Amino acid sequence: MKAALDRALGVLRDDVRAMQAYAVHPSAGLIKLDAMENPFRLPGELQQALGERLGAVAINRYPGERTQHLARALAAHAGLSEGKALMLGNGSDELISLLAMAVSKPGERVVVLAPLPGFVMYGLSSAYQHLDFVGVPLTADFELDEAAMLAAIAEHRPAIVYLAYPNNPTANLWDDAVIERIAHAAPGLVVMDEAYQPFAARDAMALMARHPQVLIMRTMSKFGLAGVRIGYLMGHAELIHHIDKLRPPYNVSVLNAEAGLFALEHAEVYALQAAALRDGRAALQAALARLPGVRAYPSEANMILVRVPDADRLHADMKSRGVLVKNVSGMHPLLAGCLRLTVGTADENAAMLAALEASLAALV
Ligand code: PMP
Repeated sequence: MKAALDRALGVLRDDVRAMQAYAVHPSAGLIKLDAMENPFRLPGELQQALGERLGAVAINRYPGERTQHLARALAAHAGLSEGKALMLGNGSDELISLLAMAVSKPGERVVVLAPLPGFVMYGLSSAYQHLDFVGVPLTADFELDEAAMLAAIAEHRPAIVYLAYPNNPTANLWDDAVIERIAHAAPGLVVMDEAYQPFAARDAMALMARHPQVLIMRTMSKFGLAGVRIGYLMGHAELIHHIDKLRPPYNVSVLNAEAGLFALEHAEVYALQAAALRDGRAALQAALARLPGVRAYPSEANMILVRVPDADRLHADMKSRGVLVKNVSGMHPLLAGCLRLTVGTADENAAMLAALEASLAALV
Protein backbone atom coordinates (compact mmCIF):
# COMPACT_ATOMS: atom_id res chain seq x y z
CA MET A 1 0.00 0.00 0.00
CA LYS A 2 2.64 2.47 1.15
CA ALA A 3 4.93 1.79 -1.82
CA ALA A 4 2.07 2.21 -4.29
CA LEU A 5 1.03 5.52 -2.68
CA ASP A 6 4.66 6.73 -2.77
CA ARG A 7 4.89 5.89 -6.46
CA ALA A 8 1.63 7.74 -7.10
CA LEU A 9 2.81 10.78 -5.12
CA GLY A 10 6.08 10.59 -7.03
CA VAL A 11 4.41 11.42 -10.33
CA LEU A 12 3.09 14.71 -8.95
CA ARG A 13 5.19 17.79 -9.65
CA ASP A 14 7.67 18.58 -6.87
CA ASP A 15 6.70 22.26 -6.95
CA VAL A 16 3.01 21.35 -6.59
CA ARG A 17 3.78 19.10 -3.62
CA ALA A 18 5.67 21.99 -2.00
CA MET A 19 2.84 24.51 -2.56
CA GLN A 20 0.51 25.84 0.12
CA ALA A 21 -3.18 25.49 -0.80
CA TYR A 22 -5.24 28.69 -1.16
CA ALA A 23 -6.83 29.04 2.28
CA VAL A 24 -10.54 29.80 2.64
CA HIS A 25 -10.98 30.83 6.28
CA PRO A 26 -13.95 29.53 8.29
CA SER A 27 -16.54 32.22 8.87
CA ALA A 28 -19.52 30.43 10.46
CA GLY A 29 -21.28 32.65 12.98
CA LEU A 30 -19.25 35.73 12.06
CA ILE A 31 -20.25 38.92 10.25
CA LYS A 32 -18.38 38.17 7.05
CA LEU A 33 -16.64 41.24 5.66
CA ASP A 34 -13.49 39.61 4.32
CA ALA A 35 -14.18 38.73 0.67
CA MET A 36 -15.98 41.59 -1.11
CA GLU A 37 -19.23 39.68 -1.40
CA ASN A 38 -22.46 41.56 -2.04
CA PRO A 39 -24.26 41.19 1.33
CA PHE A 40 -27.75 41.49 -0.15
CA ARG A 41 -29.96 38.56 -1.11
CA LEU A 42 -32.64 38.98 -3.76
CA PRO A 43 -36.01 40.25 -2.50
CA GLY A 44 -38.20 37.30 -1.38
CA GLU A 45 -40.44 37.08 -4.44
CA LEU A 46 -37.46 37.15 -6.82
CA GLN A 47 -35.67 34.50 -4.77
CA GLN A 48 -38.80 32.37 -5.13
CA ALA A 49 -38.96 33.01 -8.88
CA LEU A 50 -35.28 32.07 -9.22
CA GLY A 51 -35.97 28.83 -7.36
CA GLU A 52 -38.72 28.01 -9.83
CA ARG A 53 -36.49 28.79 -12.82
CA LEU A 54 -33.70 26.62 -11.47
CA GLY A 55 -36.19 23.86 -10.66
CA ALA A 56 -37.21 23.72 -14.31
CA VAL A 57 -33.65 23.33 -15.65
CA ALA A 58 -32.84 19.99 -17.29
CA ILE A 59 -29.82 19.02 -15.21
CA ASN A 60 -29.57 15.66 -16.98
CA ARG A 61 -28.21 17.48 -20.06
CA TYR A 62 -24.81 19.04 -20.57
CA PRO A 63 -24.75 22.84 -20.79
CA GLY A 64 -25.51 24.16 -24.27
CA GLU A 65 -27.68 26.89 -25.66
CA ARG A 66 -28.46 28.68 -22.40
CA THR A 67 -24.74 29.16 -21.77
CA GLN A 68 -24.34 30.77 -25.20
CA HIS A 69 -27.37 32.87 -24.40
CA LEU A 70 -25.70 34.02 -21.17
CA ALA A 71 -22.54 34.98 -23.09
CA ARG A 72 -24.65 37.08 -25.49
CA ALA A 73 -26.60 38.67 -22.63
CA LEU A 74 -23.37 39.60 -20.82
CA ALA A 75 -21.93 41.07 -24.03
CA ALA A 76 -25.06 43.21 -24.41
CA HIS A 77 -24.95 44.19 -20.71
CA ALA A 78 -21.32 45.33 -21.12
CA GLY A 79 -22.06 47.14 -24.40
CA LEU A 80 -19.48 45.07 -26.27
CA SER A 81 -18.76 46.49 -29.70
CA GLU A 82 -18.42 44.93 -33.16
CA GLY A 83 -15.27 42.85 -33.67
CA LYS A 84 -14.99 41.98 -29.98
CA ALA A 85 -16.01 38.67 -28.41
CA LEU A 86 -16.70 37.27 -24.95
CA MET A 87 -15.86 33.95 -23.33
CA LEU A 88 -17.15 32.56 -20.04
CA GLY A 89 -15.16 31.26 -17.11
CA ASN A 90 -16.10 29.45 -13.93
CA GLY A 91 -15.37 32.69 -12.13
CA SER A 92 -12.57 34.96 -13.32
CA ASP A 93 -10.18 32.72 -11.39
CA GLU A 94 -10.63 30.14 -14.13
CA LEU A 95 -10.03 32.74 -16.84
CA ILE A 96 -6.74 33.72 -15.18
CA SER A 97 -5.73 30.03 -15.31
CA LEU A 98 -6.76 29.73 -18.97
CA LEU A 99 -4.78 32.85 -19.88
CA ALA A 100 -1.71 31.35 -18.18
CA MET A 101 -2.22 28.15 -20.14
CA ALA A 102 -2.64 30.11 -23.38
CA VAL A 103 0.77 31.80 -23.13
CA SER A 104 2.81 29.00 -21.52
CA LYS A 105 5.53 27.72 -23.89
CA PRO A 106 7.67 24.84 -22.55
CA GLY A 107 11.37 25.61 -22.75
CA GLU A 108 10.81 29.36 -22.99
CA ARG A 109 10.85 31.92 -20.21
CA VAL A 110 7.37 33.43 -20.27
CA VAL A 111 6.62 36.32 -17.95
CA VAL A 112 3.41 37.57 -16.35
CA LEU A 113 3.72 41.03 -14.87
CA ALA A 114 1.48 42.91 -12.45
CA PRO A 115 1.79 45.68 -9.91
CA LEU A 116 2.06 44.62 -6.26
CA PRO A 117 0.29 44.51 -3.93
CA GLY A 118 -2.35 42.98 -6.16
CA PHE A 119 -4.67 40.03 -6.65
CA VAL A 120 -2.88 36.83 -5.61
CA MET A 121 -4.24 34.59 -8.38
CA TYR A 122 -2.05 36.25 -11.05
CA GLY A 123 1.04 34.92 -9.28
CA LEU A 124 -0.45 31.57 -8.28
CA SER A 125 -1.76 30.76 -11.77
CA SER A 126 1.62 31.70 -13.22
CA ALA A 127 3.34 29.23 -10.90
CA TYR A 128 0.87 26.49 -11.88
CA GLN A 129 1.91 26.91 -15.54
CA HIS A 130 5.67 27.42 -14.97
CA LEU A 131 5.47 31.08 -15.92
CA ASP A 132 7.69 33.66 -14.25
CA PHE A 133 5.68 36.18 -12.29
CA VAL A 134 7.22 39.65 -12.00
CA GLY A 135 5.61 41.96 -9.44
CA VAL A 136 6.31 45.69 -9.71
CA PRO A 137 5.75 47.60 -6.45
CA LEU A 138 3.20 50.40 -6.44
CA THR A 139 4.25 53.76 -5.01
CA ALA A 140 3.74 54.35 -1.27
CA ASP A 141 0.30 55.85 -2.00
CA PHE A 142 -0.65 52.85 -4.17
CA GLU A 143 -0.32 54.58 -7.55
CA LEU A 144 1.32 52.85 -10.53
CA ASP A 145 5.06 53.50 -10.57
CA GLU A 146 5.17 54.37 -14.25
CA ALA A 147 8.95 54.40 -14.63
CA ALA A 148 9.30 51.06 -12.82
CA MET A 149 6.45 49.50 -14.82
CA LEU A 150 7.89 50.65 -18.16
CA ALA A 151 11.39 49.52 -17.19
CA ALA A 152 10.10 46.10 -16.12
CA ILE A 153 8.11 45.75 -19.34
CA ALA A 154 11.20 46.63 -21.41
CA GLU A 155 13.35 44.19 -19.45
CA HIS A 156 11.00 41.21 -19.16
CA ARG A 157 8.82 41.53 -22.31
CA PRO A 158 5.80 40.05 -20.45
CA ALA A 159 3.29 37.89 -22.31
CA ILE A 160 0.59 39.26 -20.00
CA VAL A 161 0.34 42.47 -17.98
CA TYR A 162 -2.49 42.41 -15.43
CA LEU A 163 -3.95 45.68 -14.21
CA ALA A 164 -6.78 45.28 -11.71
CA TYR A 165 -8.94 48.33 -12.19
CA PRO A 166 -9.88 48.98 -9.35
CA ASN A 167 -7.05 47.11 -7.65
CA ASN A 168 -7.46 44.54 -4.88
CA PRO A 169 -6.65 45.12 -2.01
CA THR A 170 -5.85 48.83 -2.41
CA ALA A 171 -9.33 49.54 -3.93
CA ASN A 172 -8.17 52.46 -6.12
CA LEU A 173 -8.30 53.16 -9.85
CA TRP A 174 -5.05 54.20 -11.51
CA ASP A 175 -4.25 57.10 -13.79
CA ASP A 176 -5.65 56.47 -17.26
CA ALA A 177 -2.79 58.26 -19.03
CA VAL A 178 -0.26 55.98 -17.29
CA ILE A 179 -2.32 52.92 -18.23
CA GLU A 180 -2.43 54.11 -21.83
CA ARG A 181 1.38 54.34 -21.93
CA ILE A 182 1.71 50.89 -20.34
CA ALA A 183 -0.69 49.46 -22.94
CA HIS A 184 1.46 51.05 -25.65
CA ALA A 185 4.68 49.61 -24.27
CA ALA A 186 3.37 46.11 -23.52
CA PRO A 187 4.52 43.57 -26.13
CA GLY A 188 1.75 41.06 -25.32
CA LEU A 189 -1.69 40.98 -23.72
CA VAL A 190 -2.85 43.65 -21.29
CA VAL A 191 -5.66 42.32 -19.11
CA MET A 192 -7.76 44.93 -17.35
CA ASP A 193 -9.32 43.04 -14.44
CA GLU A 194 -12.56 44.86 -13.69
CA ALA A 195 -13.91 42.60 -10.94
CA TYR A 196 -15.06 45.71 -9.02
CA GLN A 197 -16.56 47.55 -12.00
CA PRO A 198 -20.06 47.86 -10.40
CA PHE A 199 -18.57 50.17 -7.77
CA ALA A 200 -16.13 52.20 -9.88
CA ALA A 201 -16.50 55.57 -11.58
CA ARG A 202 -14.67 54.52 -14.75
CA ASP A 203 -13.94 51.44 -16.85
CA ALA A 204 -11.52 50.44 -19.60
CA MET A 205 -13.98 49.87 -22.47
CA ALA A 206 -12.61 52.86 -24.44
CA LEU A 207 -9.03 51.69 -23.84
CA MET A 208 -9.96 48.25 -25.17
CA ALA A 209 -11.59 49.82 -28.23
CA ARG A 210 -8.31 51.57 -29.07
CA HIS A 211 -5.95 48.63 -28.44
CA PRO A 212 -6.49 45.11 -29.84
CA GLN A 213 -4.10 43.68 -27.24
CA VAL A 214 -6.22 44.97 -24.33
CA LEU A 215 -8.70 42.49 -22.83
CA ILE A 216 -11.26 43.19 -20.12
CA MET A 217 -12.08 40.58 -17.51
CA ARG A 218 -15.20 40.91 -15.37
CA THR A 219 -17.12 38.73 -12.97
CA MET A 220 -20.66 38.36 -11.69
CA SER A 221 -19.22 37.66 -8.22
CA LYS A 222 -19.14 41.21 -6.87
CA PHE A 223 -22.39 41.99 -8.74
CA GLY A 224 -24.10 39.58 -6.33
CA LEU A 225 -23.42 36.03 -7.57
CA ALA A 226 -20.16 35.06 -5.89
CA GLY A 227 -21.54 31.60 -5.16
CA VAL A 228 -22.59 31.03 -8.75
CA ARG A 229 -19.11 31.37 -10.32
CA ILE A 230 -19.39 33.27 -13.59
CA GLY A 231 -16.51 35.31 -14.95
CA TYR A 232 -16.11 36.66 -18.48
CA LEU A 233 -13.27 37.79 -20.66
CA MET A 234 -13.82 40.26 -23.49
CA GLY A 235 -11.50 41.32 -26.26
CA HIS A 236 -10.59 41.15 -29.92
CA ALA A 237 -12.60 38.30 -31.47
CA GLU A 238 -9.52 36.58 -32.88
CA LEU A 239 -7.74 36.52 -29.50
CA ILE A 240 -10.81 35.28 -27.66
CA HIS A 241 -11.39 32.62 -30.33
CA HIS A 242 -8.01 31.03 -29.57
CA ILE A 243 -8.02 31.41 -25.78
CA ASP A 244 -11.53 29.92 -25.69
CA LYS A 245 -10.22 26.63 -27.13
CA LEU A 246 -8.60 25.93 -23.74
CA ARG A 247 -11.86 26.29 -21.84
CA PRO A 248 -13.32 23.00 -20.62
CA PRO A 249 -16.42 22.70 -22.83
CA TYR A 250 -18.93 22.61 -19.98
CA ASN A 251 -17.20 24.92 -17.49
CA VAL A 252 -20.35 26.90 -16.71
CA SER A 253 -23.10 24.64 -15.38
CA VAL A 254 -26.70 24.83 -16.53
CA LEU A 255 -27.68 26.07 -13.06
CA ASN A 256 -25.01 28.79 -13.16
CA ALA A 257 -26.09 29.88 -16.63
CA GLU A 258 -29.76 30.06 -15.64
CA ALA A 259 -28.97 31.99 -12.44
CA GLY A 260 -26.75 34.38 -14.42
CA LEU A 261 -29.49 34.98 -16.99
CA PHE A 262 -32.04 35.53 -14.25
CA ALA A 263 -29.74 38.08 -12.57
CA LEU A 264 -29.27 39.99 -15.84
CA GLU A 265 -33.04 40.06 -16.37
CA HIS A 266 -33.17 41.81 -12.98
CA ALA A 267 -30.08 43.93 -13.47
CA GLU A 268 -31.92 46.95 -12.05
CA VAL A 269 -32.20 45.19 -8.66
CA TYR A 270 -28.45 44.60 -8.63
CA ALA A 271 -27.79 48.17 -9.75
CA LEU A 272 -29.75 49.39 -6.72
CA GLN A 273 -27.74 47.07 -4.46
CA ALA A 274 -24.47 48.41 -5.92
CA ALA A 275 -25.70 51.97 -5.38
CA ALA A 276 -26.55 51.14 -1.75
CA LEU A 277 -23.05 49.72 -1.30
CA ARG A 278 -21.47 52.84 -2.81
CA ASP A 279 -23.51 54.94 -0.33
CA GLY A 280 -22.48 52.59 2.48
CA ARG A 281 -18.86 53.00 1.41
CA ALA A 282 -19.14 56.80 1.64
CA ALA A 283 -20.72 56.57 5.09
CA LEU A 284 -18.01 54.15 6.23
CA GLN A 285 -15.27 56.44 4.90
CA ALA A 286 -16.74 59.34 6.88
CA ALA A 287 -16.94 57.24 10.06
CA LEU A 288 -13.41 55.84 9.62
CA ALA A 289 -12.03 59.36 9.14
CA ARG A 290 -13.24 60.16 12.67
CA LEU A 291 -11.42 57.20 14.25
CA PRO A 292 -8.09 58.28 15.74
CA GLY A 293 -5.12 56.21 14.61
CA VAL A 294 -6.92 54.82 11.54
CA ARG A 295 -6.01 55.87 8.01
CA ALA A 296 -8.59 54.89 5.42
CA TYR A 297 -7.53 54.98 1.76
CA PRO A 298 -9.84 56.16 -1.04
CA SER A 299 -11.94 53.42 -2.63
CA GLU A 300 -13.61 52.77 -5.98
CA ALA A 301 -14.62 49.25 -4.93
CA ASN A 302 -16.77 47.54 -2.28
CA MET A 303 -13.84 47.43 0.12
CA ILE A 304 -11.78 49.95 2.05
CA LEU A 305 -8.13 49.50 2.91
CA VAL A 306 -7.21 50.89 6.32
CA ARG A 307 -3.88 51.28 8.09
CA VAL A 308 -4.16 50.70 11.82
CA PRO A 309 -1.82 50.68 14.81
CA ASP A 310 -1.61 46.86 15.19
CA ALA A 311 -3.29 44.94 12.36
CA ASP A 312 -2.66 41.46 13.75
CA ARG A 313 -4.10 42.20 17.19
CA LEU A 314 -6.99 44.24 15.81
CA HIS A 315 -7.89 41.52 13.33
CA ALA A 316 -7.94 38.85 16.05
CA ASP A 317 -9.80 41.10 18.48
CA MET A 318 -12.45 42.08 15.92
CA LYS A 319 -12.94 38.39 15.16
CA SER A 320 -13.45 37.63 18.85
CA ARG A 321 -16.16 40.32 18.73
CA GLY A 322 -17.87 38.50 15.87
CA VAL A 323 -16.58 40.43 12.83
CA LEU A 324 -14.34 38.87 10.19
CA VAL A 325 -12.29 41.26 8.04
CA LYS A 326 -9.16 40.48 6.04
CA ASN A 327 -5.72 40.99 7.52
CA VAL A 328 -3.55 41.88 4.53
CA SER A 329 -0.68 43.13 6.67
CA GLY A 330 1.66 40.28 5.77
CA MET A 331 0.87 40.25 2.05
CA HIS A 332 3.37 42.91 0.98
CA PRO A 333 5.65 45.44 2.73
CA LEU A 334 3.53 48.32 1.41
CA LEU A 335 0.56 46.86 3.29
CA ALA A 336 2.27 46.61 6.68
CA GLY A 337 -0.36 47.36 9.31
CA CYS A 338 -3.28 47.18 6.89
CA LEU A 339 -6.72 45.56 7.10
CA ARG A 340 -9.15 45.27 4.21
CA LEU A 341 -12.76 45.95 5.13
CA THR A 342 -15.55 44.78 2.82
CA VAL A 343 -18.55 47.11 2.64
CA GLY A 344 -21.60 45.26 3.97
CA THR A 345 -25.18 46.18 4.87
CA ALA A 346 -25.72 49.28 7.05
CA ASP A 347 -26.11 47.00 10.11
CA GLU A 348 -22.97 45.03 9.27
CA ASN A 349 -20.98 48.22 8.72
CA ALA A 350 -22.18 49.57 12.08
CA ALA A 351 -21.20 46.30 13.81
CA MET A 352 -17.82 46.36 12.08
CA LEU A 353 -17.16 49.95 13.13
CA ALA A 354 -18.19 49.17 16.72
CA ALA A 355 -15.86 46.13 16.77
CA LEU A 356 -13.02 48.18 15.31
CA GLU A 357 -13.54 50.97 17.81
CA ALA A 358 -13.71 48.57 20.76
CA SER A 359 -10.62 46.70 19.54
CA LEU A 360 -8.71 49.97 19.15
CA ALA A 361 -9.66 50.95 22.70
CA ALA A 362 -8.50 47.55 23.97
CA LEU A 363 -5.06 48.11 22.41
CA VAL A 364 -4.08 50.81 24.90
N1 PMP B 1 -9.99 39.71 -9.84
C1 PMP B 1 -9.89 40.41 -8.71
C2 PMP B 1 -9.15 41.70 -8.72
C3 PMP B 1 -10.46 39.92 -7.53
O1 PMP B 1 -10.32 40.61 -6.40
C4 PMP B 1 -11.16 38.68 -7.56
C5 PMP B 1 -11.82 38.07 -6.36
N2 PMP B 1 -11.51 38.52 -5.14
C6 PMP B 1 -11.22 37.99 -8.77
C7 PMP B 1 -10.64 38.54 -9.88
C8 PMP B 1 -11.85 36.63 -8.87
O2 PMP B 1 -13.21 36.69 -8.94
P1 PMP B 1 -14.10 35.43 -9.28
O3 PMP B 1 -13.21 34.23 -9.48
O4 PMP B 1 -15.02 35.27 -8.12
O5 PMP B 1 -14.81 35.80 -10.54
